[in-house]
Amino acid sequence: MEMTQKIAVKKGLQMAAFDPASLRKGVEIAVSKLEHYLSDSSIRGLSLRDPNDLLRLAKELFMAPLVQTSPVAIEENLAKIIDLYISTGIQVHSPGYMGRQFSGAPFLAGVIDLVSSIVSQPSSFYEAGQLPNVAEQIMADVLNRFIGYSPEKFAMITTSGGSLANLTAILAARNDKFPQFWRAGITGVGQQTRPVLAVSEDVHYSVLRAAGILGIGEQQVVRLPLDKKYRIHIDKVRPILDDAEQRGCKVFCIVASSGTTSVGAFDPLDELADIAQERDCWLHVDAAHGGGLLVSSLLRHKLKGIEKCDSFCWDAHKTMFMPAVCTLLFYKDKHKSFSAFQQTESQDASYVFEKQPSIYTQFDSAKQNFECTKRPLIMNLWTTWSLYGEKLFVEKIEYLCSLAREAFQILSEQKEFEIIHEPELNILCFRYCPAIIPKDLTLSEFQVAIRNRICEEGKFFISKVDIDGVAALRVVFMNHLIEIQHFSMLLDEIRNTAIALLSKHNGRG
Ligand SMILES: *Cc1c(COP(=O)(O)O)cnc(C)c1O
Repeated sequence: MEMTQKIAVKKGLQMAAFDPASLRKGVEIAVSKLEHYLSDSSIRGLSLRDPNDLLRLAKELFMAPLVQTSPVAIEENLAKIIDLYISTGIQVHSPGYMGRQFSGAPFLAGVIDLVSSIVSQPSSFYEAGQLPNVAEQIMADVLNRFIGYSPEKFAMITTSGGSLANLTAILAARNDKFPQFWRAGITGVGQQTRPVLAVSEDVHYSVLRAAGILGIGEQQVVRLPLDKKYRIHIDKVRPILDDAEQRGCKVFCIVASSGTTSVGAFDPLDELADIAQERDCWLHVDAAHGGGLLVSSLLRHKLKGIEKCDSFCWDAHKTMFMPAVCTLLFYKDKHKSFSAFQQTESQDASYVFEKQPSIYTQFDSAKQNFECTKRPLIMNLWTTWSLYGEKLFVEKIEYLCSLAREAFQILSEQKEFEIIHEPELNILCFRYCPAIIPKDLTLSEFQVAIRNRICEEGKFFISKVDIDGVAALRVVFMNHLIEIQHFSMLLDEIRNTAIALLSKHNGRG
């Protein structure tokens, strides 16, 4: 009796939380807030709040004890939470946002994301995510038209981020070149050999983490130096690899970048693929940022040779403008995509894996990716592509890259700015170096101070990066609403900020 009563009490709240009318009401509130947010065309970056103030505000909104009494209070609280969420976010839809590699998403991608959340279809198994698994195959074939792998042989999976994709691909490479490693660990490699990973000096940090996680060891990572354009210096690769081999190392994988995070440099894939092939070495390309250029016939040449690499990752939440996260991981050879997570008997997870393959399980991606439960990552991209076609992506990436070129032209005409590189895509790094800089700051500290102050002012949001050991200002164009005059306004802001810093640090004013 007591038990039934308890269940009845619990059910009341469940009925409220799963009441379809609450969905309609909640969506109405969210849409009207978002409409208001999107109609604000002001130039703004981020309003950075004191985390302790925000903590206090957020705690006030954490009203769980009250909800049972008032459905109206729930709606009011939802509205407040949405307000707080929107107002504390980086303003990605404003032209003042020039700072990072994510962008505002096409709105209908957001709509399908809502549907994904409500229908709740984890996508590693066909049975639980029929459309996502089919959509993955369609997107794989559509995108491979821009890559050029053999259509019968290649494979594509999705992962929760580029970092996980890098880890997965390097794991596949390790297992492919050292088949005993999976079961025996490092002892399976043999005393004479040391597995070594070769990477650019400017590789993304997730690759170095992968070396640690995979038992390679950060010490066994060979660094390939850069040329003047911050690409892997191709003439130095063979001698460095020869040297490593002479020390008893087996270089099993080279990791190249197509669009480095810092400056957006493209490593020479074509030549690296030849070198990798000569040495029975896997070539993985981290195209997390630059993959989006593949869809453009004007820009694709920057990834020349991509069809020769064994694997590469591509973040659709960067230069394909999807909500985070959606990463695509491609393999030239489908069989090798299964070498990442070798299906030993000890992984006999009878609750999900079937011994007898069926027409359904052939569509499962779980054997190729680490996640068990996984968001249906492809749905936002597949839906957006279905609705607008490739043209949306082509237009946007071409616009953003041309904007970076224009910005570069403007900078070259201003002598107090030091240009660090010509933009290869939508990233541009530079330093502000006026004749006088604050006495007590190094040039590097001065850049950081400018960047921080600009972000605090709230009008523009830019980032910083250390290049050759000295900080630089870093602009990433991710928003098509940015016009070149916004960049000029940013330069004015930088000048004014520097003047303010000068007066503060020299004790004037
Ligand atoms: C962003 C980025 C990554 C990391 O990808 P996440 O999706 O953020 O995990 C890896 N490599 C490069 C070159 C990147 O720009």
